[in-house]
Amino acid sequence: MGQMVKNLVHQQYRLAVLMSSGQGRESGEGSSRSVSAPADHQQPPQLSRYESQKRRDWNTFGQYLKNQRPPVAMSQCNYNHVLDFLRYLDQFGKTKVHLQGCVFFGQPEPPGPCACPLRQAWGSLDALIGRLRAAYEENGGLPETNPFASGAIRLYLRDVRGSQAKARGIPYKKKKKKRNQMKATDETTNFQMQSA
Ligand SMILES: [Zn+2]
Repeated sequence: MGQMVKNLVHQQYRLAVLMSSGQGRESGEGSSRSVSAPADHQQPPQLSRYESQKRRDWNTFGQYLKNQRPPVAMSQCNYNHVLDFLRYLDQFGKTKVHLQGCVFFGQPEPPGPCACPLRQAWGSLDALIGRLRAAYEENGGLPETNPFASGAIRLYLRDVRGSQAKARGIPYKKKKKKRNQMKATDETTNFQMQSA
């Protein structure tokens, strides 16, 4: 059963990789830096893993908005853009989410392959939203207009969690943190927190 957390952690890692590579595609650090306005005070030389991931996520999201037709300014961004972004990320997902008709529906560890789609795991999305929500305000956004804090996002994540729990046979209520603490402290704290 530690498997589940391991999977989630793995997902997060994949997402991190995905995000950084998404950013790299667009040509370099300079361009991504222009996304966030206020030059943050004194960067410590070594960002924590959480901090650097948050920065990558923020840049990726900014890039995503820029790539819209027409481009969306951060100030115009609302929760619909965020929802679209989350759905867009699903195509890079690595988590098998069984469809209703699949014989493995509801089985955490299916004995064989199937044709069901790969998605972003709920835990990855939840952690991502937490980071983006923080980044938005750190980059000058007002809490009142924070699109990542919208109730619509919370509902969406709750739906994803519910449907993935059913499809994958995973009860998200059970926290498996203790057994995996050695490996995964960073990620598990990230993804566990906002869920209650
Ligand atoms: Zn399936």
